[in-house]
Amino acid sequence: MIYLKTDEEIELMRISNLLVAKTLGEVAKAIKPGVSTLELDKIAEAFIRDNGGTPAFLNYQGFPNSLCTSVNEQVVHGIPNDTPLQEGDVVSVDCGVLLNDFYGDSAYTFPIGEVAPEVKALLEATKASLYKGIEQAIDNNRLGDVGHAIQSYTEERGYSVVREMVGHGIGRNLHEAPEVANYGRRGNGTKLKSGMVIAIEPMINLGKRQIVQEDDGWTIRTIDKKVSAHYEHTVAVRKGEADILSSFKFVEEVLHLQSEK
Ligand code: MG
Ligand code: MG
Repeated sequence: MIYLKTDEEIELMRISNLLVAKTLGEVAKAIKPGVSTLELDKIAEAFIRDNGGTPAFLNYQGFPNSLCTSVNEQVVHGIPNDTPLQEGDVVSVDCGVLLNDFYGDSAYTFPIGEVAPEVKALLEATKASLYKGIEQAIDNNRLGDVGHAIQSYTEERGYSVVREMVGHGIGRNLHEAPEVANYGRRGNGTKLKSGMVIAIEPMINLGKRQIVQEDDGWTIRTIDKKVSAHYEHTVAVRKGEADILSSFKFVEEVLHLQSEK
């Protein structure tokens, strides 16, 4: 069952996603060599609560924290810990918020100081692939168009697409139908309709596409322990052009990058 959202509901979701975006901006201000992911988690939780929201991941199916922080070969669902981040690391910070009965969900992979050129290129390609997918998230297209756009953009550059973990519908639930794969065939899959809201979240690996789960029961990492990148936006499907509800603006103002959206 795919829940179509009214314009009013989409505006509520924009507010939830604005809080997610600003929370990631707070993370951006603090993230640097020597800081732990647990410290980032505390900053995020306090900021979400101070702004009237509830951290969506905290206690979700038993997840112990407010952020998922996935370092280097970790793909997604990493648990914050007290290990200091080091120059050259990359960290996917995934943040979810519940506000006014609607969820927001967005993720950004941060470079810690200077990272290897091949890692920087992976981050840039993964983020670019997210926008390629978003371009396809329009009324009357199909989910396969979204997945194909992400897959072709990244595979052409020699990267691989994680298959087992996917994006998702989002609304009054953190995870709703449909599943949003980061691979696919043009013209295949569920038809997109104006009012659908989906989280698109490519997980792209430098090496092999295969993943394994760590013994903590959460953390997903690459099987070959090569780096993985992850970016996520919550978007509303519209006629002609998707409406991106989350934003990297606050992060990229801090990182001094030109923000695409
Ligand atoms: Mg997320
Ligand atoms: Mg998500």
